[in-house]
Amino acid sequence: MFTFHIPALTFASRRTSKQRIGLIMDRMPQIARGRRDVSSLLQVRNLTKIYPLGESVFGGGARGEVRAVDDVSFDIYSGETLGLVGESGSGKSTLGRMVLRLIEPTSGSICFEGKDLLGASRGELRRLRRDMQIIFQDPFGSLDPRMRVEDVIAEPLIIHPNSGSANGIRSRVTELLRAVGLDESALRRFPHEFSGGQRQRIGIARALALRPKFIVADEPVSALDVSVGAQIVNLLAQLQREFGLTYLFISHSMPVVRYLATRIAVMYRGKMVEVGATAQITERPAHAYTRSLLAAAQ
Ligand code: ADP
Ligand code: MG
Repeated sequence: MFTFHIPALTFASRRTSKQRIGLIMDRMPQIARGRRDVSSLLQVRNLTKIYPLGESVFGGGARGEVRAVDDVSFDIYSGETLGLVGESGSGKSTLGRMVLRLIEPTSGSICFEGKDLLGASRGELRRLRRDMQIIFQDPFGSLDPRMRVEDVIAEPLIIHPNSGSANGIRSRVTELLRAVGLDESALRRFPHEFSGGQRQRIGIARALALRPKFIVADEPVSALDVSVGAQIVNLLAQLQREFGLTYLFISHSMPVVRYLATRIAVMYRGKMVEVGATAQITERPAHAYTRSLLAAAQ
Protein backbone atom coordinates (compact mmCIF):
# COMPACT_ATOMS: atom_id res chain seq x y z
CA MET A 1 0.00 0.00 0.00
CA PHE A 2 1.23 3.46 -0.80
CA THR A 3 -0.26 6.63 0.53
CA PHE A 4 1.31 9.99 0.22
CA HIS A 5 0.11 13.35 1.41
CA ILE A 6 1.34 16.34 -0.45
CA PRO A 7 1.80 19.28 1.91
CA ALA A 8 1.86 21.72 -1.00
CA LEU A 9 -1.88 21.14 -1.49
CA THR A 10 -2.86 22.98 1.64
CA PHE A 11 -1.44 26.35 0.70
CA ALA A 12 -1.82 26.34 -3.05
CA SER A 13 -5.53 25.86 -3.43
CA ARG A 14 -6.37 29.41 -4.47
CA ARG A 15 -4.28 28.96 -7.56
CA THR A 16 -5.45 27.26 -10.73
CA SER A 17 -4.92 23.50 -10.97
CA LYS A 18 -2.13 23.99 -13.48
CA GLN A 19 -0.27 26.38 -11.22
CA ARG A 20 -0.87 24.02 -8.31
CA ILE A 21 0.63 21.03 -10.09
CA GLY A 22 3.56 23.25 -11.12
CA LEU A 23 4.07 24.24 -7.49
CA ILE A 24 4.05 20.67 -6.29
CA MET A 25 6.53 19.71 -8.97
CA ASP A 26 8.79 22.65 -8.04
CA ARG A 27 8.80 21.81 -4.38
CA MET A 28 9.11 18.09 -4.78
CA PRO A 29 11.55 17.46 -7.60
CA GLN A 30 11.87 13.83 -6.61
CA ILE A 31 8.19 13.36 -7.38
CA ALA A 32 8.39 15.35 -10.59
CA ARG A 33 11.14 13.13 -11.90
CA GLY A 34 10.11 9.64 -11.01
CA ARG A 35 6.54 9.46 -9.69
CA ARG A 36 4.15 11.60 -11.62
CA ASP A 37 1.37 9.22 -10.64
CA VAL A 38 1.75 10.25 -7.01
CA SER A 39 0.50 13.75 -7.65
CA SER A 40 -2.54 13.53 -9.86
CA LEU A 41 -4.60 10.36 -10.21
CA LEU A 42 -7.44 12.03 -12.05
CA GLN A 43 -7.44 15.19 -14.13
CA VAL A 44 -10.75 16.66 -15.23
CA ARG A 45 -10.80 19.59 -17.65
CA ASN A 46 -13.73 21.69 -18.85
CA LEU A 47 -16.18 18.87 -18.26
CA THR A 48 -19.72 19.70 -19.34
CA LYS A 49 -22.99 17.79 -19.50
CA ILE A 50 -25.98 19.38 -21.18
CA TYR A 51 -29.36 17.66 -21.09
CA PRO A 52 -31.97 18.79 -23.58
CA LEU A 53 -35.31 19.60 -21.99
CA GLY A 54 -38.04 17.37 -23.36
CA GLU A 55 -40.72 19.98 -23.94
CA SER A 56 -41.08 23.69 -23.53
CA VAL A 57 -43.06 24.80 -20.48
CA PHE A 58 -44.38 27.70 -22.55
CA GLY A 59 -45.94 25.44 -25.11
CA GLY A 60 -43.90 26.88 -27.97
CA GLY A 61 -41.44 25.05 -30.17
CA ALA A 62 -38.33 26.32 -28.42
CA ARG A 63 -36.58 23.73 -26.31
CA GLY A 64 -34.39 24.57 -23.42
CA GLU A 65 -31.47 22.73 -21.95
CA VAL A 66 -30.09 21.93 -18.52
CA ARG A 67 -26.39 22.52 -17.97
CA ALA A 68 -26.15 19.80 -15.31
CA VAL A 69 -22.36 20.18 -15.17
CA ASP A 70 -20.91 23.34 -16.65
CA ASP A 71 -17.21 23.67 -17.57
CA VAL A 72 -15.76 21.99 -14.49
CA SER A 73 -11.99 21.42 -14.02
CA PHE A 74 -10.25 19.82 -11.05
CA ASP A 75 -7.70 17.19 -10.03
CA ILE A 76 -7.84 14.33 -7.57
CA TYR A 77 -4.55 13.35 -5.98
CA SER A 78 -3.48 9.84 -5.05
CA GLY A 79 -4.56 8.79 -1.57
CA GLU A 80 -6.79 11.78 -0.87
CA THR A 81 -10.52 12.20 -0.36
CA LEU A 82 -11.99 14.97 -2.43
CA GLY A 83 -15.36 15.87 -0.89
CA LEU A 84 -17.93 17.11 -3.40
CA VAL A 85 -20.64 19.11 -1.69
CA GLY A 86 -23.66 21.06 -2.93
CA GLU A 87 -27.43 21.14 -2.72
CA SER A 88 -29.68 18.65 -4.50
CA GLY A 89 -29.68 19.24 -8.26
CA SER A 90 -26.30 21.02 -8.31
CA GLY A 91 -24.77 18.36 -10.61
CA LYS A 92 -22.82 16.19 -8.16
CA SER A 93 -24.08 12.81 -9.34
CA THR A 94 -23.79 13.75 -13.00
CA LEU A 95 -20.18 14.79 -12.39
CA GLY A 96 -19.35 11.67 -10.35
CA ARG A 97 -20.79 9.38 -13.00
CA MET A 98 -19.10 11.17 -15.89
CA VAL A 99 -15.75 10.77 -14.18
CA LEU A 100 -16.32 6.98 -14.32
CA ARG A 101 -17.75 7.29 -17.84
CA LEU A 102 -21.08 5.91 -16.71
CA ILE A 103 -22.54 9.06 -18.30
CA GLU A 104 -21.05 10.39 -21.55
CA PRO A 105 -19.93 14.02 -21.25
CA THR A 106 -21.09 16.62 -23.75
CA SER A 107 -17.54 18.01 -23.84
CA GLY A 108 -14.31 18.16 -21.85
CA SER A 109 -11.59 15.70 -20.95
CA ILE A 110 -10.85 13.17 -18.21
CA CYS A 111 -7.43 11.60 -17.59
CA PHE A 112 -6.98 8.71 -15.18
CA GLU A 113 -3.35 7.86 -14.42
CA GLY A 114 -2.39 9.85 -17.48
CA LYS A 115 -4.72 7.88 -19.78
CA ASP A 116 -7.43 9.66 -21.74
CA LEU A 117 -10.64 8.08 -20.49
CA LEU A 118 -12.88 9.50 -23.21
CA GLY A 119 -10.59 8.38 -26.04
CA ALA A 120 -10.00 4.91 -24.57
CA SER A 121 -10.69 1.84 -26.69
CA ARG A 122 -13.12 -0.77 -25.39
CA GLY A 123 -10.27 -2.94 -24.15
CA GLU A 124 -8.54 -0.05 -22.41
CA LEU A 125 -11.81 1.08 -20.88
CA ARG A 126 -12.43 -2.38 -19.54
CA ARG A 127 -9.03 -2.40 -17.82
CA LEU A 128 -9.52 1.13 -16.50
CA ARG A 129 -12.95 0.21 -15.12
CA ARG A 130 -11.40 -2.35 -12.77
CA ASP A 131 -9.57 0.52 -11.10
CA MET A 132 -12.60 2.81 -10.78
CA GLN A 133 -15.70 1.84 -8.82
CA ILE A 134 -18.83 3.45 -7.41
CA ILE A 135 -20.72 3.20 -4.13
CA PHE A 136 -24.35 4.29 -4.28
CA GLN A 137 -26.75 5.71 -1.73
CA ASP A 138 -28.82 2.54 -2.03
CA PRO A 139 -26.52 -0.31 -3.07
CA PHE A 140 -29.45 -2.60 -3.84
CA GLY A 141 -31.56 -0.17 -5.79
CA SER A 142 -30.19 -1.48 -9.07
CA LEU A 143 -29.75 -5.11 -8.06
CA ASP A 144 -32.01 -8.12 -8.27
CA PRO A 145 -33.58 -8.57 -4.79
CA ARG A 146 -33.41 -12.35 -5.31
CA MET A 147 -29.62 -12.29 -5.46
CA ARG A 148 -27.84 -13.62 -2.40
CA VAL A 149 -25.15 -11.49 -0.79
CA GLU A 150 -22.51 -13.90 -2.03
CA ASP A 151 -23.59 -13.32 -5.63
CA VAL A 152 -23.91 -9.56 -5.18
CA ILE A 153 -20.27 -9.33 -4.09
CA ALA A 154 -18.97 -11.98 -6.49
CA GLU A 155 -20.65 -10.52 -9.59
CA PRO A 156 -17.84 -8.11 -10.57
CA LEU A 157 -15.31 -10.94 -10.08
CA ILE A 158 -17.30 -13.27 -12.31
CA ILE A 159 -17.78 -10.65 -15.03
CA HIS A 160 -14.08 -9.79 -15.18
CA PRO A 161 -11.66 -12.36 -16.59
CA ASN A 162 -8.78 -13.86 -14.58
CA SER A 163 -10.66 -13.83 -11.29
CA GLY A 164 -9.71 -17.40 -10.52
CA SER A 165 -11.60 -20.56 -9.60
CA ALA A 166 -15.01 -20.80 -7.91
CA ASN A 167 -13.21 -21.60 -4.65
CA GLY A 168 -10.92 -18.65 -5.11
CA ILE A 169 -13.89 -16.36 -5.68
CA ARG A 170 -15.66 -17.73 -2.60
CA SER A 171 -12.66 -17.06 -0.37
CA ARG A 172 -12.22 -13.58 -1.86
CA VAL A 173 -15.89 -12.81 -1.09
CA THR A 174 -15.42 -13.96 2.51
CA GLU A 175 -12.30 -11.82 2.80
CA LEU A 176 -14.23 -8.81 1.47
CA LEU A 177 -17.08 -9.39 3.94
CA ARG A 178 -14.60 -9.40 6.82
CA ALA A 179 -12.95 -6.24 5.51
CA VAL A 180 -16.29 -4.42 5.81
CA GLY A 181 -17.09 -5.84 9.25
CA LEU A 182 -19.48 -8.69 8.31
CA ASP A 183 -18.98 -12.43 8.65
CA GLU A 184 -19.60 -15.54 6.58
CA SER A 185 -23.13 -16.00 7.87
CA ALA A 186 -24.11 -13.17 5.49
CA LEU A 187 -23.16 -15.14 2.36
CA ARG A 188 -26.39 -17.08 1.85
CA ARG A 189 -28.76 -14.36 2.96
CA PHE A 190 -30.73 -11.86 0.90
CA PRO A 191 -30.36 -8.06 0.90
CA HIS A 192 -33.76 -7.42 2.54
CA GLU A 193 -32.61 -9.35 5.61
CA PHE A 194 -30.07 -6.63 6.41
CA SER A 195 -30.29 -3.17 7.93
CA GLY A 196 -29.44 -0.09 5.86
CA GLY A 197 -25.96 0.15 7.37
CA GLN A 198 -25.24 -3.53 6.72
CA ARG A 199 -26.50 -3.18 3.15
CA GLN A 200 -24.13 -0.29 2.62
CA ARG A 201 -21.27 -2.48 3.93
CA ILE A 202 -22.21 -5.10 1.33
CA GLY A 203 -22.23 -2.40 -1.38
CA ILE A 204 -18.76 -1.35 -0.29
CA ALA A 205 -17.51 -4.96 -0.37
CA ARG A 206 -18.84 -5.27 -3.93
CA ALA A 207 -17.07 -2.04 -4.94
CA LEU A 208 -13.79 -3.33 -3.47
CA ALA A 209 -13.97 -6.74 -5.18
CA LEU A 210 -11.69 -5.87 -8.09
CA ARG A 211 -9.15 -4.05 -5.89
CA PRO A 212 -9.85 -0.60 -7.34
CA LYS A 213 -7.62 2.43 -6.83
CA PHE A 214 -10.35 5.03 -7.06
CA ILE A 215 -13.91 5.05 -5.71
CA VAL A 216 -16.74 7.50 -6.29
CA ALA A 217 -19.04 7.35 -3.25
CA ASP A 218 -22.31 9.07 -4.20
CA GLU A 219 -24.20 10.06 -1.04
CA PRO A 220 -23.27 6.75 0.64
CA VAL A 221 -24.62 7.76 4.06
CA SER A 222 -27.51 10.05 3.09
CA ALA A 223 -30.15 7.36 3.58
CA LEU A 224 -28.79 6.28 6.97
CA ASP A 225 -29.30 7.45 10.55
CA VAL A 226 -26.55 9.77 11.72
CA SER A 227 -24.86 7.21 14.01
CA VAL A 228 -24.98 4.45 11.38
CA GLY A 229 -23.74 6.91 8.76
CA ALA A 230 -20.81 7.81 11.02
CA GLN A 231 -19.85 4.13 11.26
CA ILE A 232 -19.87 3.85 7.46
CA VAL A 233 -17.78 7.01 7.10
CA ASN A 234 -15.25 5.60 9.58
CA LEU A 235 -15.22 2.31 7.70
CA LEU A 236 -14.47 4.17 4.44
CA ALA A 237 -11.59 6.01 6.16
CA GLN A 238 -10.21 2.73 7.53
CA LEU A 239 -10.45 1.00 4.13
CA GLN A 240 -8.71 3.95 2.53
CA ARG A 241 -5.71 3.50 4.83
CA GLU A 242 -5.75 -0.27 4.46
CA PHE A 243 -5.98 -0.41 0.67
CA GLY A 244 -4.49 2.93 -0.38
CA LEU A 245 -7.76 4.13 -1.92
CA THR A 246 -8.54 7.52 -3.41
CA TYR A 247 -12.11 8.83 -3.01
CA LEU A 248 -14.44 11.27 -4.63
CA PHE A 249 -16.94 11.51 -1.77
CA ILE A 250 -20.24 13.12 -2.72
CA SER A 251 -22.66 14.49 -0.14
CA HIS A 252 -25.13 17.34 0.29
CA SER A 253 -24.03 17.53 3.94
CA MET A 254 -21.14 19.86 4.78
CA PRO A 255 -20.49 18.28 8.23
CA VAL A 256 -20.08 14.80 6.69
CA VAL A 257 -17.78 16.06 3.91
CA ARG A 258 -15.79 18.14 6.35
CA TYR A 259 -15.19 15.13 8.58
CA LEU A 260 -13.81 12.88 5.84
CA ALA A 261 -12.34 15.06 3.10
CA THR A 262 -8.76 16.11 2.53
CA ARG A 263 -10.03 18.82 0.17
CA ILE A 264 -13.52 20.07 -0.57
CA ALA A 265 -15.06 21.06 -3.90
CA VAL A 266 -18.32 23.04 -3.83
CA MET A 267 -20.90 22.63 -6.61
CA TYR A 268 -23.57 25.23 -7.28
CA ARG A 269 -25.91 25.04 -10.28
CA GLY A 270 -23.54 22.91 -12.32
CA LYS A 271 -20.45 25.00 -11.59
CA MET A 272 -17.61 24.11 -9.27
CA VAL A 273 -17.51 27.44 -7.47
CA GLU A 274 -14.68 26.65 -5.08
CA VAL A 275 -12.12 23.94 -4.38
CA GLY A 276 -9.46 23.85 -1.68
CA ALA A 277 -8.11 22.21 1.45
CA THR A 278 -10.81 21.32 3.99
CA ALA A 279 -9.53 23.83 6.55
CA GLN A 280 -9.41 26.59 3.98
CA ILE A 281 -12.93 25.97 2.66
CA THR A 282 -14.47 25.66 6.12
CA GLU A 283 -12.53 28.49 7.80
CA ARG A 284 -12.01 30.94 4.94
CA PRO A 285 -14.64 30.23 2.29
CA ALA A 286 -14.30 32.50 -0.73
CA HIS A 287 -17.76 32.00 -2.22
CA ALA A 288 -21.05 33.23 -0.77
CA TYR A 289 -22.71 29.88 -1.49
CA THR A 290 -20.03 28.03 0.50
CA ARG A 291 -20.67 30.41 3.41
CA SER A 292 -24.39 29.66 3.26
CA LEU A 293 -23.68 25.89 3.29
CA LEU A 294 -21.46 26.34 6.33
CA ALA A 295 -24.02 28.55 8.08
CA ALA A 296 -26.75 25.96 7.46
CA ALA A 297 -24.56 23.30 9.06
CA GLN A 298 -24.08 25.22 12.33
P1 ADP B 1 -27.22 16.20 -7.63
O1 ADP B 1 -26.59 14.86 -7.65
O2 ADP B 1 -26.31 17.30 -7.15
O3 ADP B 1 -28.51 16.22 -6.88
P2 ADP B 1 -27.72 15.72 -10.46
O4 ADP B 1 -26.38 15.54 -11.08
O5 ADP B 1 -28.51 14.52 -10.17
O6 ADP B 1 -27.55 16.64 -9.14
O7 ADP B 1 -28.59 16.68 -11.40
C1 ADP B 1 -28.11 17.92 -11.91
C2 ADP B 1 -29.16 18.55 -12.82
O8 ADP B 1 -29.27 17.78 -14.01
C3 ADP B 1 -30.56 18.61 -12.22
O9 ADP B 1 -31.17 19.79 -12.66
C4 ADP B 1 -31.23 17.40 -12.81
O10 ADP B 1 -32.61 17.60 -12.89
C5 ADP B 1 -30.59 17.32 -14.18
N1 ADP B 1 -30.53 15.94 -14.71
C6 ADP B 1 -29.87 14.92 -14.14
N2 ADP B 1 -30.00 13.79 -14.88
C7 ADP B 1 -30.77 14.12 -15.94
C8 ADP B 1 -31.28 13.41 -17.09
N3 ADP B 1 -30.99 12.12 -17.29
N4 ADP B 1 -32.06 14.11 -17.96
C9 ADP B 1 -32.32 15.41 -17.78
N5 ADP B 1 -31.88 16.14 -16.74
C10 ADP B 1 -31.12 15.51 -15.83
MG1 MG C 1 -27.10 13.09 -6.58
